[in-house]
Amino acid sequence: MSEKMRVAIVEGDGIGREVIPAAVEVLDVFGLPIEKVPLELGYGKWEKCGIAIDDNDLDVLKSCDCVLFGAITTPPDPNYKSVLLTIRKELDMYANIRPIKPLPGVTGVIGRSDFDFVIVRENTEGMYSSIEEFHEDVSYTKRVVSRKGSERIARTACKIAKERHNDLTIVHKSNVLKSDNMFLNTCREVAESENVGHRDMLVDAMAYSLMTYPERYDVVVTTNLFGDILSDMSAALVGSLGLAPSANIGDKYAFFEPVHGSGPDIAGKGIANPIAAILSMKMMLEWMGRQKEADIVEEAVGRCITENITTPDLGGAASTIEVGRAIANHVREML
Ligand code: ATP
Ligand code: MG
Repeated sequence: MSEKMRVAIVEGDGIGREVIPAAVEVLDVFGLPIEKVPLELGYGKWEKCGIAIDDNDLDVLKSCDCVLFGAITTPPDPNYKSVLLTIRKELDMYANIRPIKPLPGVTGVIGRSDFDFVIVRENTEGMYSSIEEFHEDVSYTKRVVSRKGSERIARTACKIAKERHNDLTIVHKSNVLKSDNMFLNTCREVAESENVGHRDMLVDAMAYSLMTYPERYDVVVTTNLFGDILSDMSAALVGSLGLAPSANIGDKYAFFEPVHGSGPDIAGKGIANPIAAILSMKMMLEWMGRQKEADIVEEAVGRCITENITTPDLGGAASTIEVGRAIANHVREML
């Protein structure tokens, strides 16, 4: 990373305003050449200005290299245009990446910690194409699968597979949804041309298999709706929602956010787990080519949990700020 990176810092609403400052505190310890650009978006802005994101905000986002994002509460407005969907579309971030990896001493729903896989979800088409028709007695949603869309997500997945164990699982439902033949065949072609080992699974079988044999998987690539469901389900393998990071990546921009929402039930109490946000920041460091720093963050998170400095979702009594500070201190010790 030669020149200075510009990172938009969007805390958003609710616990986003608590967990993002914790992530920034950890990031700051490294003293990297990063210019932070704070930006207010979401419900708070909507209350003040009647709009959650405007063209100027999009210009600011586009002037940055990437975004570190908290969460946004959806305003009670029938005409509300989703901030996240707007950003994803405007910045053309077509890949949603969710690492599913256990943390030391935390076990999720099946009580295991011998898995480590990544879900790569196509983020622009499939069932979420927004091409819909509503009639009195019937409604339709068009499921879009394009060659271009399939090819670029397959390339992203293969790139990740090559950095890992060269093992790609293509998840689809082409026996029923014929549109998935395009997805499956394109992914196979790309994997062949990139020399990535691959197999395919029907999505229903995959749901069962991920809960039963999660250790079998390395990189999983799938379409939008299936990826949405499988990635939330897989977060349960790890444990708290407060531990799950994610990235949205395109050819130019990237966007890093914890999987959880704005946690209205715990917002303002200072007890939100900042680890998902801190691990999202870690994914940002990886995207910037800062693997060494990213590894330090992960190690620091592990040490903090091992010392039992945890928020109530993990059974501890520490605050968001205390956990963030403990992780920042561990990072400092390792530098
Ligand atoms: P939104 O509409 O913003 O998505 P939500 O009601 O869906 O909000 P989430 O933020 O998705 O709420 O959270 C779901 C549940 O998980 C809530 O009970 C919340 O308190 C809990 N939770 C979410 N994030 C965290 C976190 N970082 N630490 C602890 N608990 C969390
Ligand atoms: Mg939610």
